[in-house]
Amino acid sequence: GVNLRGLLRRNWLLIATVVSVVLGIALGILVRQFAPLSYLDTQYFGFPGEILMRMLKLVILPLIISSMITGVAALDSEVSGKIGLRAVVYYFSTTVIAVILGIILVMTIKPGVSQTADNIDRTGTTPDVTTVDTLLDLVRVRSHFPDDPKWTFSHQLQHTICHSTASKDKSVYRCSKWLNITKEYMIVGSYSDGMNILGLIVFCVAFGLIIGKMGERGRILLEFFDALNEATMKLVQIIMWYMPIGILFLIAAKIIEVETWDIFRKMGLYMVTVLTGLAIHSLVCLPLIFFIIVRKNPYTFTLGMAQALVTALMISSSSATLPVTFRCAEENNRIDKRITRFVLPVGATINMDGTALYEAVAAIFIAQLNDYALDVGQIVTISITSTVASIGAAGVPNAGLVTMVIVLTAVGLPANDVTLIMAVDWLLDRFRTMINVLGDAYGAGIVQKLSRKELERMDLTSDVDVANPF
Ligand code: ASP
Repeated sequence: GVNLRGLLRRNWLLIATVVSVVLGIALGILVRQFAPLSYLDTQYFGFPGEILMRMLKLVILPLIISSMITGVAALDSEVSGKIGLRAVVYYFSTTVIAVILGIILVMTIKPGVSQTADNIDRTGTTPDVTTVDTLLDLVRVRSHFPDDPKWTFSHQLQHTICHSTASKDKSVYRCSKWLNITKEYMIVGSYSDGMNILGLIVFCVAFGLIIGKMGERGRILLEFFDALNEATMKLVQIIMWYMPIGILFLIAAKIIEVETWDIFRKMGLYMVTVLTGLAIHSLVCLPLIFFIIVRKNPYTFTLGMAQALVTALMISSSSATLPVTFRCAEENNRIDKRITRFVLPVGATINMDGTALYEAVAAIFIAQLNDYALDVGQIVTISITSTVASIGAAGVPNAGLVTMVIVLTAVGLPANDVTLIMAVDWLLDRFRTMINVLGDAYGAGIVQKLSRKELERMDLTSDVDVANPF
């Protein structure tokens, strides 16, 4: 009927994305079964997907700058302070809820009790990544899509991670080297992908506040950044057209690349624990909070975010998903731009419910594997450090695995034991990233509801239409 056609037309991008996920998985399985590729060929195979990642990553810099500055400048400082405080309270409390949920589940299911750390391989073989990397760089296709100015560092990090799992005997040594590098980076306050988004946000908030106070002259800058934001979102729209193709090859290449599915059998219960926690948090806890405060159907809200959720599931990065999160929140769920611009970039950087839950489960799982009895104090320590570690994790793939070190060392577990869970991280990372993005979106909806009085007052007193200032 007409309705169905309208529905299809409005959601064609989402439908195309979901179809490409299914096709990608099928293609991956087929190639894996019937035409095994060499490592090099797999890298070429995944190249359309890598381009997608690079385009998304490149766009987040102008997106964050323009949205944060206009977001802060459009509010007066008292209102932005209130909105910021509400956002932080929401972020913090939902993260703590996720951690507690994770702890309850892992202590009940006890996925690590029946096994010992030695039963689970600490290795897998990953061929050398440099040849392909150098080749792709040589033909210079890659450098046309820089993902950040310091990209050589992330290249280095990736290289080291691959080596850490490269050979059985050297794995521990190499992993500790890798951990040292990342630890250093966390100490200097930079983030694991070389891009310091939190630092950028701090700068933009300061800059936005000043522009907001500058009066007439400030309007010029505000207009400039607003136009920049509009242009960036147009660019995002174009990238989203390319998304189904990129995603198809991204997931297909991943399926071809997976070393062995055998590890899933050994780690099955652990993965079930994490996934159950994520499911409960996203289907029960968050919707309940949303419903109590906003009084609207939370699942309609979740459906509105579907495109962003699939994207997060496919690319494992909440920062790179941010452009899509913006579009879904503003267009489908009709959240005020003054809220999204201010709340979503911060959320993508510090609000990670999925990561927090995962860290707590993983730490206790590792303790169970090592027959290491935890007392109440240590469990409290795990919940605090998991929260901190999720705030400190950047919104990039596998960041949560890196910040696990904080949690493990805090309770005296060997930091090198992250190698035990490394092999399945590519899968869990996807799901926790999806929940991270969902948490940010719910946050924007809740903060909007709580701030409606301020927003209405601004609409009345302001001489310009602040929701649509230009
Ligand atoms: N990949 C996650 C994210 O971008 C972070 C993590 O590794 O937990 O949200």
